[in-house]
Amino acid sequence: MINSLLGAGNALLTVSNQIIHQHPKRIIAVIAAVLLSGGGGAFAVASFAPDAAELPVREVLEPVQALPVSVPADLDLQALKLFRSDLTRSTDTADTLLKRLGVDDAAAAGFLRSDASARQVLFGRSGRTVTVETSERNSLLKLSARWTSDTDGKFNRLVLEKTAQGFVSRIESAALTVTSRLASGTIQSSLFAATDDAKIPDVIATQMAEIFAGDIDFHRALRKGDRFSVVYETLEGDGEPLRTGRVLSAEFVNNGKSFQTMWFQEPTPGAAVTASSAGAANARNKGGYYTLDGQSLRRAFLASPMEFSRVTSGFKMRMHPILKVMRAHQGVDYGAPTGTAVRSVGDGVVDFAGVQNGYGNVIILQHRNNYKTVYAHLSRINVRRGESVSQGQNIGAVGATGWATGPHLHFEYRINGVYTDPQNIARENVTSPLSNSAKPAFAQLAAQNRVALASAASMLQSRAQ
Ligand SMILES: [Zn+2]
Repeated sequence: MINSLLGAGNALLTVSNQIIHQHPKRIIAVIAAVLLSGGGGAFAVASFAPDAAELPVREVLEPVQALPVSVPADLDLQALKLFRSDLTRSTDTADTLLKRLGVDDAAAAGFLRSDASARQVLFGRSGRTVTVETSERNSLLKLSARWTSDTDGKFNRLVLEKTAQGFVSRIESAALTVTSRLASGTIQSSLFAATDDAKIPDVIATQMAEIFAGDIDFHRALRKGDRFSVVYETLEGDGEPLRTGRVLSAEFVNNGKSFQTMWFQEPTPGAAVTASSAGAANARNKGGYYTLDGQSLRRAFLASPMEFSRVTSGFKMRMHPILKVMRAHQGVDYGAPTGTAVRSVGDGVVDFAGVQNGYGNVIILQHRNNYKTVYAHLSRINVRRGESVSQGQNIGAVGATGWATGPHLHFEYRINGVYTDPQNIARENVTSPLSNSAKPAFAQLAAQNRVALASAASMLQSRAQ
């Protein structure tokens, strides 16, 4: 799908790159033109405004004081319809749901209670948007609700309608539409506070933190004033956002240093692929995140041994626990609730998994180049000595075993047995080079993403002014 938009907007890109420098405030209009010219591609619909689909639908009918004189005498006011929508609540009954939707219709309530589809779709679950169409007298004409179940690119739609024979219901299935959204924000207190302000879903905030995990430790290195821009997919059914997709491109400015990335997937190779090149091609065809000049963002080591989440980002340690006990504290402490997953920062082999004085339950991993990593005070150990682990693998859980006064993860890097500040670990690239045939397509998409990210940054600037 991404590749389908490569033909679009090239002429405009040249123009808009000049305009970024000459007329920063006019950029948004130009970007809109570039994006819309994508015609059905990933950037065809970019939401610059609050999402209209998320706003509650109000009554369409306004009280009319005086009808124009020319109105036909037979105008049927009964034919006017009202539309309303609301979210289901887990405790809803037919009566409470219909009441919130402004429906006053005993027959409709009776049908909702007895119809198996309606009951299964609407009741015992919260947060599902239900839309109704009623007569002016608030009797139900039509009710619909949408949801996604699998990852098959489709959504389901419950439709309940009034017919001459009474109410009928049916469940339909239709294709989700992919749209992309542009958002940006500045860190004041935390990443999630900033993404909440920008109305960015949590999964996108987490994806951003994971995408840049090789470069930025989101638990420890965020600064007030850091800013980000992101373009991400939203999957919609009948215009209603039903699922969040992936980050398509993003920029994060951490402590004055800018990191940019985009998602790129090489086209599926033709029959010309030889057996020897097939492995590398498969890795590329899965897609991944690259810098805009074509370097893979995958690193030999992750910056953090814990996945970034709303829970871990907000957890504060009561005190700095080991420091009081050990003469020199050689490690990094991550405050997190007991049970939070701990992950391997790199591929390696388990060198030790068990109890050591002070460390409590501890895992030591051996990586290549005589690198070791240490994960201490664990409440649970999920690996055994000698076992191979891969980067990002869940190896245990945060706890407070050993010399710890509260739950936290104590983490160390050792190179040739010597403790090393994780911040100084070289972020070695894992090479996953682009094929030569994909480079022109990559360059075009990168140019479009540069413009989109510049546009998001410019929106942020104009909000701040
Ligand atoms: Zn520590």
